[in-house]
This record gives sequence, C-alpha cells and structure tokens, in this order.
Amino acid sequence: MGPTPLAHHRIRHHGKALMQHVTLNDGHTMPQLGFGVWQVPDDEAQAAVTTALEAGYRSIDTAKLYQNERGTGRALASSGIDREELFVTTKLWNDEQGYDNALKAFDASLDRLGLDYVDLYLIHWPAPKQDAYVDTWKALERIRSEGRARSIGVSNFTVQTLDRLVAETDVVPVLNQIELHPYFSQETMRAANARHGLLTEAWSPLGQGGELLGDPELTAIGERHGKSVAQVVLRWHLQLGNVVIPKSVTPSRIRENIDVFDFELSAEEMDRIGALDRGGRIGPDPDELG
Ligand code: NAD
Repeated sequence: MGPTPLAHHRIRHHGKALMQHVTLNDGHTMPQLGFGVWQVPDDEAQAAVTTALEAGYRSIDTAKLYQNERGTGRALASSGIDREELFVTTKLWNDEQGYDNALKAFDASLDRLGLDYVDLYLIHWPAPKQDAYVDTWKALERIRSEGRARSIGVSNFTVQTLDRLVAETDVVPVLNQIELHPYFSQETMRAANARHGLLTEAWSPLGQGGELLGDPELTAIGERHGKSVAQVVLRWHLQLGNVVIPKSVTPSRIRENIDVFDFELSAEEMDRIGALDRGGRIGPDPDELG
C-alpha cells in the first residue's frame, strides 16, 4: 500500500518549530505531530506540557485514564497561547461507555481540563464485549452537534468494530488512534481507516522507546541524514500520512521529536522501514480489553 493521501499539507511555523497540518473529514485541521502524556503523573504534566508548548507543539493527547487532565489543563491555561491555536484531545474510558455515561464522562473531562470545548473526543477502546460503543458514539455525535467537541473519533477500533460503527451511525469518525510503529505497521488497519475516509493516528509511535530505538537499520538511516532513530521513525510516520503523538518528559527529547520537518526519507528508505514489521503488538488486543 502506498502512502495515505492527505487531504491537505501545510507547513506552518509554531514559534521556532515547523509543523505540518492535516485536514480531517469534517473540515477541521490538526497538527500532524502532537504530544502524548500517557504515564505522566498529574503533578508532572504541567511541566511536561509547558515544555512541549514552548518547543512548538500545539496538539496534546490526554485521556481520562491518564489522570492528568488537570495538570494538562493548567499548562494550557498558563501558556498564554490562544485557545484557537491549541488542539486538545481527550478520551472516554471503558467504564464510561453507554449514552448517558458518555455525556457525564465528557462533562467531567471538560471540567478537569478547565476548557469550554475539546478539539477531539475519542472512544478509547471499542470494548466489544460490552457491546455499547454504538450508543456511546451517539452521545459523541450529540456532544459534537453542541460544539463541545469540534471533532469526534475512535481509538483501537478494529476492521469489524469500525465497519459496524460506520454502518449504524451518522457521523464518520475523523480518525482512529491505534498502536503503530515500524515493528507493528498495521497495513490492514490503515487501509480500513482510509477506506472509510479516516486518518490513522499512531499511538506508541516510538514503540515505547524499547528495542526499536536501537534497531541497526534505523540507526544506519539516521546516520545518513544526521538524525536520531526517534526522528527517523517519526518521519516515517509522517510520510505514511499518520498523525503521530510521541511522548517524553525529557526536555531535549521533547524538542528532538518535533524537529522532523527538515528532512525527507527516500522511497527506498520508507520501504526498508516498512519491511521491519514483526506483526506483534506491545499493547492489549482491542477484541479483549474492556
Ligand atoms: P512512545 O512510543 O511515544 O514512546 C515514549 C517513550 O520513548 C518515552 O517514555 C521514552 O522512554 C522514549 N523516548 C521518547 N522520545 C525519545 C527520544 N527522542 N529518544 C529516545 N527515547 C525517546 O510511547 P507511548 O507514550 O506509549 O505513546 C505515545 C502516546 O500515545 C501516549 O503518551 C498517549 O498519549 C498515546 N497512547 C494511546 C493509547 C491508546 O490506547 N489510545 C495507548 C498508548 C499510548
């Protein structure tokens, strides 16, 4: 499969940093690279998000599960950056599924973030055993129609759960956030997302900083470009058309991970990275969780 065609490519400056934006199927735009805050404790989230905003990130990915919506919100409020320039994502947890639960969960997330609206609200996992994701989605459609979430999407949806959601509801999700990195490149799921007009957003884009970042092939490619392995991996995602949300709490790495808009991988390098796929997940199986 070739790269997913993007509706739109725009490079803009965020302070000193360059950033590419993508257009979602509902007409809104978002930065193609954002900052993830899973496993960042609430009392460290403010500092980490502040560092990210200073480095030029404008998109922040949190979730009810991460228990750091308050710290994230404090960083957004104290940044002095216009709300319209920020792109804030949060997610509904598995014990908040169902129509009424989802409406309450959203209010609570918005309150913890200290915001009037989020840019993107996601169902975190389909939790097919609960069989509630269609009703949950109807609540998200309402939240969207009220303007309290500008866009709505899903995470960890499989071919089957995505097909059913699209068939049984009115609004197509703008994206599906799934585990995706060179060792688990998710060709089938990326094609399914594209078929429905959704973007693919990669979680654990750096493979959680494990073995992937020591991979000899990626190291060699990085040396050729004068870039780190993390930068090569992020560049691969961007050229595939993925939205990407790397996480770090280390200021130098936070800055390194956004510095990926000044080089380009060749088609041959893209293929070599694509060939590293091992077909194995780090995270849970979406058919089982929840
Ligand atoms: P990641 O792939 O972004 O890896 C993060 C780790 O990689 C860091 O903790 C650090 O150890 C290392 N690292 C980061 N930058 C580095 C650099 N430049 N050089 C060397 N090492 C570096 O992993 P992640 O946090 O699992 O995923 C990113 C984000 O995706 C999360 O923070 C969260 O927002 C989201 N996420 C979503 C789900 C979901 O179910 N929707 C699941 C997991 C993660």
